[in-house]
Amino acid sequence: MRTTADLLNLADGALLKTYKQPPLVLTRGEGCRVWDTDGREYLDLFAGIAVSVLGHAHPALVQAVASQAARLIHVSNYFYNDRQVEFASALVRAAGMDRAFLCNSGAEANEGALKLCRRHHFTRGDTERVDVIATHQSFHGRTLGALALTGQPKYWEGFGPRLSGVSHVPYGDLQALEARMNDRTAAVIVEPIQGEAGVLVPPKGYLQGVRDLCHRRGALFIADEIQTGVGRTGRFLACQREGVEADVVTLAKGIAGGVPVGAFLVRSALAGALVPGTHGTTFGGNALAAAAGLAVLGVLESEGLFSRAEALGEVLAGRLRALCEAFPSAAVEARGVGLMQGLELHSSVDPREVLARLRDRGVLLSLGGDRVLRFVPALTITREELDRGVDAVAEVLQEPPRTR
Ligand SMILES: *Cc1c(COP(=O)(O)O)cnc(C)c1O
Repeated sequence: MRTTADLLNLADGALLKTYKQPPLVLTRGEGCRVWDTDGREYLDLFAGIAVSVLGHAHPALVQAVASQAARLIHVSNYFYNDRQVEFASALVRAAGMDRAFLCNSGAEANEGALKLCRRHHFTRGDTERVDVIATHQSFHGRTLGALALTGQPKYWEGFGPRLSGVSHVPYGDLQALEARMNDRTAAVIVEPIQGEAGVLVPPKGYLQGVRDLCHRRGALFIADEIQTGVGRTGRFLACQREGVEADVVTLAKGIAGGVPVGAFLVRSALAGALVPGTHGTTFGGNALAAAAGLAVLGVLESEGLFSRAEALGEVLAGRLRALCEAFPSAAVEARGVGLMQGLELHSSVDPREVLARLRDRGVLLSLGGDRVLRFVPALTITREELDRGVDAVAEVLQEPPRTR
């Protein structure tokens, strides 16, 4: 096996440096633990950004992928494949939606949703309805269309003219949204909880309010559930918690437990918007990816992971609130729903150094926004593992690294 130093050297000469990666190389995982090439063990509290919902190497997912790989991986969308059909059917049932388009990432799901909404109005002869309203600080992906929706100007810089017809309003503010809507508004896209912005939970009733405004004004409501979906908030979708029915739901991240899969789901009223030839993707719904997705949906049910996320989320939220009380000059706010929780650090604390010290203690976490520790672990995490992770955070916050 290559040494860690060899691999870091190779990385240096082979990868584009689009990420700030610490000098370690992960090579194996099991449950909520991962190991690096030096054999060091880490507790994984962020599951590859809310992706590995079943943890690492879950036997049911391993078995589904291995046996499907041996049978059939890919035939393209020129043909149906059995797994694709079964996965789409299970997915729309879980989400309470009617039809699915399967793709490969979150950005691709949002791109597709955007196309579908514009095309829906076009099909009805409403060719002026092309505008889309998104929210400040939102994150919807890095491809050019999704990037235009993303309400963080730092991500736009240097990439030329943005997709036209997209504007942004403050998150959680129904009045601002209403004031922006008009007869050109094709769709409104909102995250039920803003993840990348730092786990921002909107005021109660916001999602229902967005949905109602959309319906009143003839626009479509897209819920970007790419981070909130797949059980993390205690229901399959965060919208389902509040009984809110979006017109379009986008999913990715946890949907296939780490195998790259995205999807957008629509209600039957929109099913005619994209007819043959109007949208497609080579890999989408391939048998291997769909088998992984099916396995994840099966385990979410059979292991009762929704209620588990809800119960453990309460425990985690309680412990994070206690950290704010214990270390007010290091942690200022705890917030979140279920197993999607954030701990906002005091402005005097160096968040990247906090992550580094946690790594030294064998704990992996990520940031949302500039200074929010984001806890989005596998839904299979144990109470003991959660406690161990939060204990490590408490140790670091006892004498937190300060910004210079
Ligand atoms: C991660 C994320 C995306 C983008 O997904 P990719 O798979 O990285 O393209 C879009 N929306 C939300 C809410 C996300 O968290």
